[in-house]
Amino acid sequence: MAEIALSNLRKVYPNGYVGVAGASLTINDGEFAVIVGPSGSGKTTLLRMVAGLEDITSGEMSIGGTLVNDVSPKDRDIAMVFQNYALYPHMSIYENMAFGLRLRGIPKPEIDRRVSEAAQFLQLADRLENKPKQLSGGQRQRVAVGRAIVRKPKVFLFDEPLSNLDAKLRVEMRVELARLHRRIDATILYVTHDQVEAMTLATRIIVMKDGHIQQVGAPLELYSRPTNRFVAGFIGSPAMNFFDSTVEQAENHIFVKGPGFKIRLTPEQTESLKKRGMIGKGVTFGIRPEHIHDRLFLPDAPADQTFVASVDVVEPMGAETYAYVRLGETMIVVRLRGDALPKVGSQIDLVCDMSRSHLFDKETGAALA
Ligand code: ADP
Ligand code: MG
Repeated sequence: MAEIALSNLRKVYPNGYVGVAGASLTINDGEFAVIVGPSGSGKTTLLRMVAGLEDITSGEMSIGGTLVNDVSPKDRDIAMVFQNYALYPHMSIYENMAFGLRLRGIPKPEIDRRVSEAAQFLQLADRLENKPKQLSGGQRQRVAVGRAIVRKPKVFLFDEPLSNLDAKLRVEMRVELARLHRRIDATILYVTHDQVEAMTLATRIIVMKDGHIQQVGAPLELYSRPTNRFVAGFIGSPAMNFFDSTVEQAENHIFVKGPGFKIRLTPEQTESLKKRGMIGKGVTFGIRPEHIHDRLFLPDAPADQTFVASVDVVEPMGAETYAYVRLGETMIVVRLRGDALPKVGSQIDLVCDMSRSHLFDKETGAALA
């Protein structure tokens, strides 16, 4: 059992800076939990507290049901993989992976067995006699992962392990880490600033900002039901579009209105805004690029779900096309079919899938519907 339970965990640095401002969270046994957030949001601080490398200012942390606030790192049965692989340059790959086991007095045949099994899995079997400098960046990172695997810890902690790799290698390693998780019987807590990594790897994502946990949920839960504007804008690529708008009532319907658009809200949104007394108030209207469609392909779309924009920049990606379009002062991005190539400077009729749209409080950013 390697459940990690945090209760109101706080880290205040000696200079008074609040690194983590009270985190309460349970990471289940065997979960692949990913902490994601911009630089400086407190991800590393939180991870280092779990590892025991950073003192806990207040709050409680237990691993596998045991309070570990005052348990030293080496007694926590945790292995950590960092962004800089921190391999011993003068040791062979075999020795790098075996070193920690030797320190723990594990017998040589068992060390051999574990190293060769990890090397096999990580495609390093023919590299064991090499020195780190003879390996590529991706291979070195795999050695760092291998060194953690051979210890068979209850908990793996990763801090931006793929940040130093180029884009293609990052994707490859991502797939390997997903395979690794399926194969080992351990809890993983993984830190990244890259929301794509978070979305693809996590069983659950923990979004952080300014030392505060913003939302915890399964990837598609965060994508579909972000709790606030920050999470909405952070998860998903290209990012969600936001419009400053006002809630207006006309006849029996409620609309969001802004420069260049007036769009009817769904019955659910209408009810929620009415209940909150938001008619006539300002809100932030959010809609993802993939939930705005070219009206050419939806000729029957109702007029009060559409708006006209002028095409500014077109990025054909092959499988899809990103069109950057302008409505008055607002620039938004729309994800179109790969074969849709609107002309720069032309006007385009767009349809909003309102059932996938979002409304946020203008001041607090909290989701309204
Ligand atoms: P992240 O990993 O999300 O980029 P960190 O956890 O490293 O963020 O840092 C969170 C905040 O705490 C940052 O603003 C950082 O400058 C600050 N911080 C980190 N370490 C210290 C320290 N030793 N003393 C004071 N402030 C620190
Ligand atoms: Mg960090």
